[in-house]
Amino acid sequence: MANFHGFSAPWAGFYDSVFVNSGTAALSLAVQLSIISRRTPQTPEVILPAYGCPDLVAAVVAQGARPVLVDLAQGRPWMDLEAVENAVNDNTVGIIAVGFLGIPERLFALRQIADKNDLALIEDSAQVFPPFSCGNGLADYLILSFGRGKPINLMGGGALLIRKDHSEQLARNSVNVLGALAETRVSAGLVWRLRRWLFNLLLTRPLYGIMEHMPFLGIGQTLFHPLSSIARQAPVEGLLEAGIEDFNSRKGNGAAWSEALLGLTGKGWSRLAPECFDEAGGEGPVVSSPALLRYPLLAPSRQIRDKALLELNRAGIGASVFYGQALPAINGVRELVAVSATAFPCACDFAERLITLPAHEDVRTADINSVAGILLAQH
Ligand SMILES: *Cc1c(COP(=O)(O)O)cnc(C)c1O
Repeated sequence: MANFHGFSAPWAGFYDSVFVNSGTAALSLAVQLSIISRRTPQTPEVILPAYGCPDLVAAVVAQGARPVLVDLAQGRPWMDLEAVENAVNDNTVGIIAVGFLGIPERLFALRQIADKNDLALIEDSAQVFPPFSCGNGLADYLILSFGRGKPINLMGGGALLIRKDHSEQLARNSVNVLGALAETRVSAGLVWRLRRWLFNLLLTRPLYGIMEHMPFLGIGQTLFHPLSSIARQAPVEGLLEAGIEDFNSRKGNGAAWSEALLGLTGKGWSRLAPECFDEAGGEGPVVSSPALLRYPLLAPSRQIRDKALLELNRAGIGASVFYGQALPAINGVRELVAVSATAFPCACDFAERLITLPAHEDVRTADINSVAGILLAQH
């Protein structure tokens, strides 16, 4: 399918790739393929976390499927596994496992639930690179986004990675969903040259730092946009390879943040990244220095979180609450999921206590220490 020029993608062992116009479009296609392979007589249902990107809901409803929200595990960016099992019924076709800021979902446990109930497992790895399933083929479908603020920023586009056994089966059954897609070309003309110039500019250090401080350019958007188009769109030759190479050469500062903020743990704060990676240690390959998109923390309470946010932003640190709300509390989503946010206490608690710090490599040790000072003074 994909034709790279002497470049082997990290997913090439288990997955075939289809490049499309956005991560949301890729996710929606994965939902469509899950529906086709299950053929439920009723409205198909797809399970996803009650805290997350509104695009998840857009991708599911674009296929005429019903998004079924599941609460998070207490204090974790992961779905409650028991709640996932309880949400499964005869109409369920798939589970979306969403990685969070560089922390993957619990793919091994979700794979077991999917196998037991004959469901598709979709790993939404828009925020995690490389995806957890790359080296083990756990997910049936994998989603990448190349949008702004994502690990590999190509200023738009996405990929649907289909596990090879499924793409063979699609070919055998002459399922032509992918072949029937319209194709948009990213032209190498003036517009493209301008975009590439901008892209290169954004990769230069000082500007990239400024970008990250502009919330409207980053991830964590809390506006619901219906999915308007799904089309094939191949990245301009060489750009994906360059993006992956750039990503691999970046030095994250997750470990520096974790060390500087160690003192918070005795004061009711939780450092999500090291805690999640420790907890998932028995689950599979332990990632010693995960590449975090932002450094996430849970404050002891909403009041302390809000006060810390104010003081950090006053000090010029681009801290953010990220999505800020559970999915049903977001305008436009509420009508589509037909449940109130109060049904998901852990997702609400997570949204109220989360604070995220910039994790790009321009954040200096002095910034990290000054943040640690501000947060340690909160009570
Ligand atoms: C950004 C994002 C998407 C959507 O990707 P786009 O390329 O912006 O359409 C989907 N899921 C998650 C978790 C994301 O962060």
